[in-house]
Formats: sequence, C-alpha cells, structure tokens
Amino acid sequence: MINNLFNQLIITITPFLPRWIVWKIAGRYVAGETGAKALAVVRQLNDKGYSATVDILGEHTNSKSEAAEITREYMNIYDEISKQKLDCNISIKPSHIGQDISNEILQTNLDKLLLKAEETNNFLRIDMENSTITDNTISLYKNCRRKYKHVGTVFQAYLYRTQADLEQLSQNGSFNFRLCKGIYKEPAAIAIQRRRKINNNFLKLLRFAFEKGIYVGIATHDLGLLKSAYTLISELNVSTDKFEFQVLYGVPMSGWLEKHLKNNFKVRVYIPFGVDWHAYSIRRLKENPNIAGYILKDLFRR
Ligand SMILES: Cc1cc2nc3c(=O)[nH]c(=O)nc-3n(C[C@H](O)[C@H](O)[C@H](O)COP(=O)(O)OP(=O)(O)OC[C@H]3O[C@@H](n4cnc5c(N)ncnc54)[C@H](O)[C@@H]3O)c2cc1C
Repeated sequence: MINNLFNQLIITITPFLPRWIVWKIAGRYVAGETGAKALAVVRQLNDKGYSATVDILGEHTNSKSEAAEITREYMNIYDEISKQKLDCNISIKPSHIGQDISNEILQTNLDKLLLKAEETNNFLRIDMENSTITDNTISLYKNCRRKYKHVGTVFQAYLYRTQADLEQLSQNGSFNFRLCKGIYKEPAAIAIQRRRKINNNFLKLLRFAFEKGIYVGIATHDLGLLKSAYTLISELNVSTDKFEFQVLYGVPMSGWLEKHLKNNFKVRVYIPFGVDWHAYSIRRLKENPNIAGYILKDLFRR
C-alpha cells in the first residue's frame, strides 16, 4: 500500500522535474545520447568479459522517414561494432522501425538490418512489446527466420500463450530466444498477475527450452529465479553454449554477474541509449509503476 503510494507519487511528479534531475535517476540505466557513448560502454564491459546488446531508445515511430532514419542509425552501429571488433549485437523494437506505419515498411527496414547483420557477421534480436502486437511480432520473426539464421526474438513468461508459442516454433527446428517476465501492464485474461506464478511459468518455459536444446537468453534480475536456473542447468547438465544470462545495464546484481563469469556462463548486458531517453523513462514509469520503486530502492541503497 505504502509502496504503491510512493510509486504513484514519483510517477506524478517525474514529468515536471527538470531534465537533469530525471537524468540523475535514469542515467545509470542509459549509456548516453549517442552511439559513440554506448559503444564506449560496450568496450568497457567487453574488457571485463561481458557481451552486450544495444538498443536505441524510442518506440511508436509514426513517420516513414523517421523509421528509415532509425534503421540507418542501426546499420551504422553494425558497421561500428564490426570496425571496433566489439562483442555486441543489436535489439530492436518493431514499433521503432515501422510497426505502427505498415507491415511492409517494418519488414523492409528489418530486411535491411538483417542483411547488414549478415554482412558484418552479427545478430539481431526482435524485442517483444505489448500484447496488441504479439501475434504480429511472432509472424514477423517467423518470416525473418525463414530467410536468415542470425535472428532471434523474445518471449514473456507472464503471458499464458507463451508455452504454446514456444511449442509451435520448436516444431520447425531450434531457434534463439530471450526469456523475460514481461514489462508491460497486461490484463488478467491473458497474463499471469502474481509474481510467484510468473516465476513458476518462467522456470517451466526455461526447462522446456533446455530440454529441447533451444538457445535461451535468461533475462532476469530476480536472484531467486537465478538460483533456480542454476539448479536446472546442473540437473539437466545443460551445455554452456545453449544459454546466456542477460541483464539491463545499471541494475544492481549483488555479485551474480561475476559469479556467472566464474562459472564460464556467458552474460550479455542490454544497453539502451539515445536522445529519446527522457520521454522513454517517463513512459516506462507510467506503464509500470513498480520501476519507480526499484529505482528509489536502488538510490537509497547507494
Ligand atoms: C536483457 C533484458 C531484456 C528485456 N527485454 C524485454 C522485452 O523485450 N520485452 C519485455 O516485455 N520485457 C523485457 N525485459 C523486462 C522484463 O520483462 C522484466 O520486466 C524486468 O526484467 C523485471 O523483471 P525481473 O525478471 O528482473 O524480476 P523482478 O521480480 O521484476 O525484479 C527482481 C529484482 O530486480 C530488480 N530490478 C528489476 N528491474 C529493475 C530495473 N529496471 N531497475 C532497477 N532494478 C530492477 C529489483 O530489485 C527487483 O526486486 C527485459 C529484461 C532484461 C533483463
């Protein structure tokens, strides 16, 4: 109750705060405004043994020229990653490069990115947005997968449909996906609401991926879930080339990242950057008030 009021207060006041104050809060989760800044962070992380994925902040682009510009920006990043020999791939949101304009524009932009990823020997992950476009994102992914090897997507453990989606996809051979809990507020008719139940489903889906030999990015900061993932990995004797752990840049992990590396487990850090950081931070806070609580807890911990 008190937590909820606290979160609500932060959400109400944040849009009225000066940008520099919002940056004080959001800045630890965002690598900066430019690709150069983001890739400098990638370099530092690579030097410590971590892989990375970068994401230009923004979503719901509604002009064709803007979507084309963002696509070009991503293509330049692929070139830079290759030139600087970084261990880093790219995550994109469909609504950032054309989802809200037309399927044709979205597919054209994705094709450009996937060809560039192929040329630079890299990989592209299609992030999963809210449930209004889950069907579309999955069919987009299926189309891409028919044409390209170096593409993956994301599944959300809070959606009831995910088990069936994974089963269906696995009928056409192995694939590569990120498993996360899901960040958007979704109705109870389609999404599990209770944390414990979401966690149970997460582990059920993780077991499914391990048993089928599907490559999975285990994307969570939940230390209890990480413990259970370790137990599963050891119980099923899962090979280290079949999974990686993924975290968001800046989220405190109580020594777990170092522990993963010691165990020879791959860790990938998701690094958002871009000029849209302010609008993005406010939208995320409004969408999911719990984030306000995490950030505050983290500030106080520091
Ligand atoms: C690499 C990566 C990619 C993702 N991609 C997607 C995607 O494509 N689609 C999608 O819907 N969701 C995505 N998510 C978000 C995910 O679905 C969850 O909403 C988010 O990770 C919080 O869930 P959790 O598993 O960390 O567990 P929680 O139970 O929510 O959190 C566990 C603990 O982690 C800490 N924590 C969690 N999140 C934060 C944060 N933002 N800031 C500070 N502390 C935090 C808190 O201390 C919390 O108590 C992604 C997450 C990661 C790590």
